[in-house]
Amino acid sequence: MRIGVLALQGAFIEHIKMLRQLDADAVEVRLPAQLDDLDGLIIPGGESTTIGKLATSYGLLEPLRRFCVNRPTWGTCAGMIFLAKDIGNDEQPILAAMDIQVNRNHFGRQIDSFEIDLRIQGLSEDPFHAVFIRAPVVTQAEAPVEILARLDDGAIVAVRQAHLLATAFHPELTSDLRLHAYFCAIVNESMS
Ligand code: GLN
Repeated sequence: MRIGVLALQGAFIEHIKMLRQLDADAVEVRLPAQLDDLDGLIIPGGESTTIGKLATSYGLLEPLRRFCVNRPTWGTCAGMIFLAKDIGNDEQPILAAMDIQVNRNHFGRQIDSFEIDLRIQGLSEDPFHAVFIRAPVVTQAEAPVEILARLDDGAIVAVRQAHLLATAFHPELTSDLRLHAYFCAIVNESMS
């Protein structure tokens, strides 16, 4: 299976390395034509305003919108913001693909980065060490969106809607391959 990682800005190299460890054919994506032969796409963390601006100037916004209508797409952190339908402002370009409302920089300055062990539905029982960096959270998610993980205070930090996946943290900054394997399974399902 061939999985692209949007490589405009942010933590894309780490995703590529993890996908390759899982024997996926992982490629960096910067041009619309590169989406054509992909079975799935990861939108990495970074800065969603920058990713939005670059996607606009590279002519990627509409091709990406079309891509994630029916092909598996996973957004991590800034990627989650980019996938959401509602981020509470109209100023930055987003794909508006997932029925979630997201609050950017939810944790503010006090604890803008932290690490925590999370239980994630769909993975084995072992906790997942999650790295949050100026992270968003999902403030509204209704069916058909499935909630996969919450923090102790109830904040939603991982969701799935059919072939779309979004996580508020950075799974590519650990050595735990389980979420990447979970995404590969979604891609695999969609290919059969
Ligand atoms: N705070 C960033 C944003 O609003 C996201 C941070 C991240 O991706 N680590 O886009």
